[in-house]
Formats: sequence, C-alpha cells, structure tokens
Amino acid sequence: MSHKYLFIFTIGPVQSFIAQARKTQDLYAGSYLLSYLTDHAIDKLKLKATSCEIIFPYEHLKSKPSRFTASIETEDVKRLGNELKQCVMDEFESIADAGVGIVKRGVLTSFKQQIRNHLQVTWVALPLEEEKYPTMYRDLEANLYAVKNVRKFEQLVESGRKCSLCGERDVLFYRGMKRAFLRNDAISLNHQPLRYMGNGEGLCAVCLTKRYAGDYFHSGYERDFPSTAAIALMGSLDKLDPNLLADYKFLFGGNFDDVLYYKDNLTLEYFKKYSFPTEKLDEAARQLSAIYAVKKQKNLRFYKYYAIIMFDGDNMGNWLSGKYLKDTTQLMDFHKKMTVSLSYFSDNVRNLINKPKGRVVYAGGDDSLALLNLDHLLPVIHDLRCAFPHFETLGHDVAGNMASSASCGIVIAHYKTPFAEALEWVRMVEEEAKEIDAQKDAFAIAVLKHSGEIRKAVMKWTYNDKSTTALIEEIVKALKDEEFSNTFIKSLRAEFGGLLDEKGKYGDPPLIVTEIRRLIDRSCTMTRNESEDKEAFAWRRKQTVDDMISRVTSLYTSSTSAENFFSLLDIADFLSREAD
Ligand SMILES: [Zn+2]
Repeated sequence: MSHKYLFIFTIGPVQSFIAQARKTQDLYAGSYLLSYLTDHAIDKLKLKATSCEIIFPYEHLKSKPSRFTASIETEDVKRLGNELKQCVMDEFESIADAGVGIVKRGVLTSFKQQIRNHLQVTWVALPLEEEKYPTMYRDLEANLYAVKNVRKFEQLVESGRKCSLCGERDVLFYRGMKRAFLRNDAISLNHQPLRYMGNGEGLCAVCLTKRYAGDYFHSGYERDFPSTAAIALMGSLDKLDPNLLADYKFLFGGNFDDVLYYKDNLTLEYFKKYSFPTEKLDEAARQLSAIYAVKKQKNLRFYKYYAIIMFDGDNMGNWLSGKYLKDTTQLMDFHKKMTVSLSYFSDNVRNLINKPKGRVVYAGGDDSLALLNLDHLLPVIHDLRCAFPHFETLGHDVAGNMASSASCGIVIAHYKTPFAEALEWVRMVEEEAKEIDAQKDAFAIAVLKHSGEIRKAVMKWTYNDKSTTALIEEIVKALKDEEFSNTFIKSLRAEFGGLLDEKGKYGDPPLIVTEIRRLIDRSCTMTRNESEDKEAFAWRRKQTVDDMISRVTSLYTSSTSAENFFSLLDIADFLSREAD
C-alpha cells in the first residue's frame, strides 16, 4: 500500500559546483551541471513515485538549486530514495564518460574513481500528515542536517600533484611541461583545443568534466558563456560594427579571446604565453587600430573591470520555517506561493540581465549570481532589489511589520584578477551586507584594484525613501560629466582619515558635513556657456553644487561610519574614471 511522505533530496558538494572556478565558463558549467542533476532526480521521482508534487523549488525553474522538497506517495520510500540517489550518480558518471570521451583512455580506472567519489547525494523522508506539516518540515530539516554531518563520505587517498581548479584531487590531465609530483599515468592534452585546458593547467576528472560539459549538453547550454574580459567590454562592443569585430575574430580562427581587444596584450610574449598565432600579430595590430579609431569616434570606453554580483533573500530559513506567519498551519500553502513568487523573480532576473548589461550564471529562486558590465551595474542591482517578491503579501498574515527583503554582494574586479579570488570576495561581501544590522536589506560593494588596493563599503538600499544606488549613480555621473573634480573626495579622506576611531567613526560629525559643503563648492569645475550671462551661470552653478552637497551629505549621514563613507566615495570616483 502507498503512503504519503514529505521528501527532501540534496546533491552536493555544492561548493564544488558553484565556487570552484578558474574561468567564468567553469562556474557556468558547474551550476548548469548541478541544476541538470536536480532536474534529472525530479524527472526520475515523477516516474517512480505513485504520485509526486514538488513543493520547492518551482518545477519549471530554469536553474535549479541543489535540493528540492516534494510531497510524494510511494510503497517503499527507502527503496525509492536509494534508487533516485543511484540514478543521479549514474547520470553524472555518464556525463563525465561521454563528455570527456576518448581523451581519458589510459587513465580510465582513476578517472572513474574520481568521478564516483565526487557526488554527495542525500535524502530524508517522513510520513506526511498535512496538518502537522510545519513541525514535520522543521524536523525534516533537522534530520537532513544530522544525516549530512554524520555520514562519512568515502575519501579517496591520492598523493600526487593537485588539480589547479579544485585543489582536491590528483591531476589526471595536463597541458605544457610535465611538472613535479605529477602522477606517472597523467595524460598530456597538448593537442586539444585551448578552451578545454590552458597552458600550465592540470585538471582532475571532475574538473575536466566541467570543461567538456558543452560537448555533452547541446540545446540549452551556453557554449559561448562570456569571459571576464567579454563582460567588461560587452557594453562598448555592442555599439561597434559587428562586421568589423567579426573580421578581427576571424583572424584567430577558433582560438579567439576577448582579451585580444586590449592593445597591451598584442605582444609577442603574450601571444607565445597563451598560444595565439604569433605570425598574425602584425595584422592583428593593424585591425585593432581600426577598431580603436571607431571606438574613439564614438567616445566608447574599453573597460578592464567587470562586476560579479551575488543576490539573495534575507532570513529565508525563517520565512520557510513559518516563523513570521501568524497561522503556521497554513505553511504548506505558503511554501507553494513562495515558490511561485520566487520563480517569477528568477524570470525577472534573466530578463533584467542580458547582453549588453551582463550575463546570469544562475537564478535559482531566492539565490542569484551574475556578471555585469560596469555601465549597467548600479541600475541593474537597483532593479533586482525592486523586483524581489513580497512574501508578506502572499495572502497569509505576517507577524508584526515583517517584510521580505534581499541583500547583495558586489565585487568589481580587473579581468586579469584570478576569477576564483573574485568569487571568494563576492561571497565574503555578501555576508557583510547581511551583517549590517538585524533587518539586513543591504548591499556591500568592493573594488579590487589591479594594483592590489581594495575599497569596500556597506549600505542599506534606501534611506528615508531615497535610493542609495541612485544617489551613487548621480555622483558618478556628475564626476564623469566633469561638473566636479574628485578633489573633494581626496581632501575629505586626507583631512579626516587619520582622525577616526577603531570603528572608523569620527567624533564630530557636523564638522564633516561643513567640510563636505566647502570642499564640494571648491571642486566644482563648471564653466559659463557662451550664451549664458553671469547671473544665469551663478544660479545654475549654485543649483548643481547644492544638489551634489545634498547627495553626498545624504550618503554620509546614512553611512555606518566615516570610513565606510570615504570608501563609498572612492568607489564612486573609481566608477567614474575606470577607462582604457
Ligand atoms: Zn579538480
């Protein structure tokens, strides 16, 4: 006889799929694989269970998170759970097997071993009594936590040189010189296209599978997922003649990379290092000059920096556990409504972030990761926050004035900064955004300059109904339009930077406000138009200066500390100047 169960299924290790990446394409491949495997598990569950309803996430969500919750009916839940687990393991193995193809012959046994040891699939189930759903949901969560922590996953003992992508498993494949501690059976991939493996890289079976994922998945997989340089240049390249760009790309055959749009990379040394055809160097320089001539005409910038953003809902655990609901007996219905509202949000994320604004890596419900072009960064994150669903309006009474909110971590990095490092930073600042206060609802932004200097600031999305991102955008624009020089920013830090306490605060805030007024007035660089009389100019100048003072003062008074405020101004200054 069939029984009803509440069932949670998870696939891990999540870190390996969405954190370990040397290139944007690795990150995309990892999150695609994870989502694909979750989909695969859901499909199998629907086939094998007597009945099945997916509660979380929305079934038709394009990028799925690493877990799902379902209410199912089955005769033997233990058998079903284990069969499902085996299906996912087998599917991963066949993706690796078919994707990497014949390249791996010679290390077949080690390859299979690494693949089989990789996935950590866990499931838990409890007999479902709908009226007890809220407590069951909490119990099941606790169960899952316990199972994950108790279970000992089989560890592979390997002692060779470690993979340059994950740093965990032995290198089975490499390109370039055979380096120290490399296993004897490791295979050279010198003759494979560079997109699978760069010079000097060494990869394990799992990481090479990510590189070959595009060969395995056909429809739906973005084989041309943009690199960091492509994101940085996206806004400007979009405004150039596509034929001009196509000719330049054609010169390099199948081995083109957007880094070749930067003049300083057209050197013999660089071409040798990254295996670009050195005999094409002169012709490349000639064609690139033609591109730069048009770029200059159109007054475009070739940015070297791009942004990674990580956006997610605040207090999701509390919302899901029903902590904010007045009547928790309706939790199951609330979950279903949350799921739908979050799926609409994911669609919005995909609609908001498209070429030339950037590219979504994943948008899986409350959790999104995307790469953005700097021209579009501030408006896009503002729009994302506005689009986040209001869980308090889903038809269930919410305790107090609780309202759903979301926070965002933003990292602006140079295209040459190791991608893994930038990714680590975005996770870090995302957490800092959530630490701003108990209400969260904030964003944290860090600029990692190529020189090694770092600037970081945390702000709420709004203060007194004013959008912080809009204020920053206006300041950036005023600096870009050369209405003001950046001397007020430099002078403020120079005057007060050394006088802050250990929390970055200044003892006499009104004094800073007075200085803001004086310094902004002094740094105004507006000049009188020919058609303008003296009075009209004085009036226009005063308006512009007053507006700027009001914006900057707003940011200061709402900032958590003077240090945070100075950093925010530095970031605005950076955004206004970042050029080629
Ligand atoms: Zn690896």
